[in-house]
Amino acid sequence: ESPYVALSSSDSSGKVWELDGDDSISYFSKKKLRVWCRQPRGQWELGMVQSTSGEEAFVSLSNGNVMKVDRSEILPANPDVLEDVDDLIKLGYLNEPSVLHNLKLRYSQGMIYSKAGPVLIALNPFKDLQMYGNKYVSACSQRTMNSPHVYATVDAAYNKMMRDEVNQSIIISGESGSGKTETAKIAMQYLAALGGGGGNCAIENEFLQINRILEAFGNAKTARNNNSSRFGKLIEIYFGCTGKICGAKIQTCLFSLTSEITMLFEQSRVVQLARDERSYHIFYQLCAGSSSDLKEKLNLRAVSEYKYLVQSDCMSIDGVDDAKNFDQLMEALDAVQIYKEDQELIFKILAAILWLGNISFQVDRDNQIEVVDDEAVNSAAQLMGCSSQDLMTALCTHKIQADEDTIEKKLTLKQAIERRDAIAKFIYASLFNWLLDQVNKSLEAGKKCTWKSISILDFYGFQTFQKNGFEQFYINYANERIQQHYNRHLFKLEQEDYELDGIDWTKVDFEDNQGCLDLFEKKPQGLLSLLDEESNLPNVSDLTFANKLKHHLHPNPCFKGERGRAFRVRHYAGEVLYDTNEFLEKNRDTMSSDCIQFLLSCNCELLPLFSKMFNQSQKQSVATKFKVQLFKLLHQLESTMPHFIRCIAPNTKQLPGIYDESLVLHQLRCCGVPEIVRLSRAGYPTRMTHQEFSRRYVFMLSEANVSHDPLSISVAVLQKFNIPSEMYHVGYTKLYLRAGQIDALENMRKQI
Ligand code: ATP
Ligand code: MG
Repeated sequence: ESPYVALSSSDSSGKVWELDGDDSISYFSKKKLRVWCRQPRGQWELGMVQSTSGEEAFVSLSNGNVMKVDRSEILPANPDVLEDVDDLIKLGYLNEPSVLHNLKLRYSQGMIYSKAGPVLIALNPFKDLQMYGNKYVSACSQRTMNSPHVYATVDAAYNKMMRDEVNQSIIISGESGSGKTETAKIAMQYLAALGGGGGNCAIENEFLQINRILEAFGNAKTARNNNSSRFGKLIEIYFGCTGKICGAKIQTCLFSLTSEITMLFEQSRVVQLARDERSYHIFYQLCAGSSSDLKEKLNLRAVSEYKYLVQSDCMSIDGVDDAKNFDQLMEALDAVQIYKEDQELIFKILAAILWLGNISFQVDRDNQIEVVDDEAVNSAAQLMGCSSQDLMTALCTHKIQADEDTIEKKLTLKQAIERRDAIAKFIYASLFNWLLDQVNKSLEAGKKCTWKSISILDFYGFQTFQKNGFEQFYINYANERIQQHYNRHLFKLEQEDYELDGIDWTKVDFEDNQGCLDLFEKKPQGLLSLLDEESNLPNVSDLTFANKLKHHLHPNPCFKGERGRAFRVRHYAGEVLYDTNEFLEKNRDTMSSDCIQFLLSCNCELLPLFSKMFNQSQKQSVATKFKVQLFKLLHQLESTMPHFIRCIAPNTKQLPGIYDESLVLHQLRCCGVPEIVRLSRAGYPTRMTHQEFSRRYVFMLSEANVSHDPLSISVAVLQKFNIPSEMYHVGYTKLYLRAGQIDALENMRKQI
């Protein structure tokens, strides 16, 4: 069962990508050309139209059967010569089955990379394909390898940086488990090889160590990915003017200006787990791998003794050795110069969080909540550097400052549990942030001699589930912004390509997503402003918020109010249904000030530091902060030349060899591949150099007419076969053909 809902705005007929070209069924029938025929269960099969009658057609399938189908269930298929192309825009017919077939064919042969115009599409192989490392690095940098590859994309970025003296960015997106983080690592590995100076593995090793740290603290096992990153990141790699690496900086998910609390980092995972999922790797590594000395210091137990960790009934991952990974983590911390004392502080905080989770509550004789005085609360207090009594009070009472007086209010059981969990989440998120600062400090050492940079963005792709909440709302909004950046850029690139080849090209219209962005950003009546406004009002609920949206945003082509708390947004990748449940609460994201006061009073060095960091960050809502940070990110990207990699997971089982067509199709739509292709094809999708073209078709000319110049041969072929002049353009280096033309030529070629 696919976890997805169909995207209703995309055309389900499969014609999404189709443009003109002679695809009338009778033409295909007459010429005995291959077609795609939709089967009752939705999949597409190759066949040939035998006859037609009215709206129906008889198609003989490759398995010998003849099917009667509606004309609308038939789409043109490409001739064999256009099978297995390394760039989707080379396909004569660009309909859904053709694209899926092409990618599947390549995938089955271990060719996981293809292009869609300027974009690299990467299908996750879920196995080691032995296509990385020194041999491939040299093949790519010396241009002896021409097939699409992450290395090739990164190589292009590096060369552009060196040649044009412009900062570059590599934008990697895709859904969970599609391979973004692995791709980012492969990209870093290539840059380390190019920018490290021959045979110098120091930088490659440093990158490896940083990734180890980030993954230990920021990754976890989820249902979709055993090593899922629960944050987005931007890594900026600095180069000196000779092209050598001189430093790097990591920003997590669009944000994290040193003193801000990491947003969109999945804090809830620390205290709450779904079945078969794990909390952050580091907790398991610490329990499994720490020395007996350290265990004693932290009063550390086995994973199975901690409530935060056992709740999901999943404590280990097949093929993963947590203890060994802990050893490697310690090495990595050493490598980025986090000293032993600081390492011990980190581990103390982690152990404190685990013990916090074991703290339980009971009702006393006066029906009031109190903390059960046991090992859990004592260990937590000791690790945090406060008395057990202070911790107990902090967990059960709410102190309100009213003028000179402090009023104390007893919490209910539910509130007390929430407070305990809020503290655990806050401490963990702060720790993650602080750790990034430390890593950055060690990486930035060489930054002084920076000349240009290459940024790598590993960010959650567009998401749509059965239920979409606050997180999807933000992720999709960010993707909408990134998509706009992309559209504008691609459009410019296309134009440049035509102009360089001497073609006068009047602007092709392209759909902009400004409408949807306005829906989010307009003041005072956009989704984000309305959310902030409602968050600040008394007596409001998720329902009043939903009603407010319906009231103010109707009518808007990108918005639709739904029953109850729900609303729909039309994104570039399709419509998404959001549920406003917890929107207001999550937007306020407050840590009560008495909790902060309590943490400030703790003796453990890091806790007061975290609280100070929190106090310094302006008390803005999540919506406001997110927008500010998103704009900062885009601003940073804007001044770079972007290169896009779209990762795709061919199945949700994390297994090699399985290609689930509907899943792939869904992702192609989510990452805007139809848009890319539509854009690229709006002009002249088939591009062949005159050499290529003349080599293939020269034999169709009679001897007498043949000249030696490829360009003249190209023109002669076009004229001889009456290709209408509005269907092609002759550039200096290439021939540009409209959709369907190469197909017509291929047919004639066969008939000769
Ligand atoms: P998330 O959004 O959950 O972080 P992701 O897109 O970052 O997901 P990865 O963690 O990069 O996904 O990849 C998931 C798994 O797929 C990896 O752990 C690895 O086993 C496999 N994988 C990804 N890319 C490759 C590749 N190029 N070659 C071999 N295996 C790969
Ligand atoms: Mg990841």
